[in-house]
Amino acid sequence: FTQPFLAAKPILEHIEKHHHQAYFVGGCVRDFLLQRPIGDIDITTSATPEQIQEIFPKVIPVGIEHGTVVVRHEHQSYEVTTFRVDGDYIDKRHPDSVTFIDNIDKDLERRDFTINALAMNIKGEILDLFDGKSDLKAKIIRTVGNGVERFSEDSLRIIRALRFASQLGFTIDDETFNAMMHVKQEIEGLAMERITNEFTKLFSGAFVDLGIHYLQKLEIHQYLPIFHEHPELMYNLPESLQPSKSFGEVIALLHILKREVSVLTWVSAWKCSNKIKLEAIQLVEAYSYYIEQGIDALLAYRLKKEYYEGFIRLMNSLHPNSIQLQELIGLEEQLPIRSSRDLSINGNDLIALFPNIKGGPWLKLLLTTIEKEVIFGRLQNTEHDIKEWIKWNPPEIN
Ligand code: ATP
Ligand code: MG
Repeated sequence: FTQPFLAAKPILEHIEKHHHQAYFVGGCVRDFLLQRPIGDIDITTSATPEQIQEIFPKVIPVGIEHGTVVVRHEHQSYEVTTFRVDGDYIDKRHPDSVTFIDNIDKDLERRDFTINALAMNIKGEILDLFDGKSDLKAKIIRTVGNGVERFSEDSLRIIRALRFASQLGFTIDDETFNAMMHVKQEIEGLAMERITNEFTKLFSGAFVDLGIHYLQKLEIHQYLPIFHEHPELMYNLPESLQPSKSFGEVIALLHILKREVSVLTWVSAWKCSNKIKLEAIQLVEAYSYYIEQGIDALLAYRLKKEYYEGFIRLMNSLHPNSIQLQELIGLEEQLPIRSSRDLSINGNDLIALFPNIKGGPWLKLLLTTIEKEVIFGRLQNTEHDIKEWIKWNPPEIN
């Protein structure tokens, strides 16, 4: 065992001590066997959510109706889900219901792909009912069971196949791909948040070119907002497309490629958060500034530091090798001020300098001009120098 698993082992031990079964399952087992960095550790168990709540001190009922609770242990969170089968293949009329079961086999059978249907017990033994290990070795994405049935049960799996191709660099099995083709129109009925979540991962994969290749081959533009009206956006993505860390980068890119679709239109159609919106807006502003002025101190000043890396990725997607992160960081380190609050003079000081003039747009303009002069090193950030400068550059008021 290696870390994350070592830290999580006591949870399996504790569940087993209370005479229930427990396994590591899904993505963490897959990534462990691939020797990739492990994200979240998911645990599957025969214990019911109530039983888990009884035997652990800190349990958060995040999705108790689906059998999922979060166990907190040593400052880490672990999703613990009761063995279950999804209602929709027992009873099509209640697709959201789940049934808890006491055997892991059926639980693994409900999972999307063979590589995601692996479980590992406390001894490190792998339970592999669907030849997931051989698909891992051959780098193949294949549904557990009949593709058409599995994609019809939940068409999000179609997009998940694309995102695993993008993240893992795996080939989608022919039969699985044909099934995706067959069922693809059903993605129209999915909740947009679920699609956006998978697309975020699709665009972030280390093998994003492969993910995009399958996306294009699948031809699903007509079932996706905005791509529906502008299919060319999906088929003319830049050759040098970089994996993005956040969907804000993706929206910025798509907006730059087609200015007539605003960032706000993307954000609302793809149900993104305010955080994604702000990020996309900042990136687009920085990009537009770069196109007009190139890279300079004001760009480094205006763009929040947390967006530097995303901006470089965006630039590398659109104009490979045009600028380097180090240039931006170098400029930032030399900045005389980091925000307008660092100026030795503020709006009230300026109003006091011109007691006979009412506040108005001139004030803001004067402040930003001073700010810019200071940033470019043409004006020292002292009260004295700034006041001198104002004498020679009085505001134009009309
Ligand atoms: P990641 O590393 O991105 O978290 P993951 O494989 O853990 O990848 P999750 O979305 O976290 O993916 O899902 C955890 C597991 O739950 C999957 O490995 C799979 O076994 C199962 N699963 C998730 N979504 C579905 C789905 N829509 N249909 C069937 N099984 C699913
Ligand atoms: Mg996961």
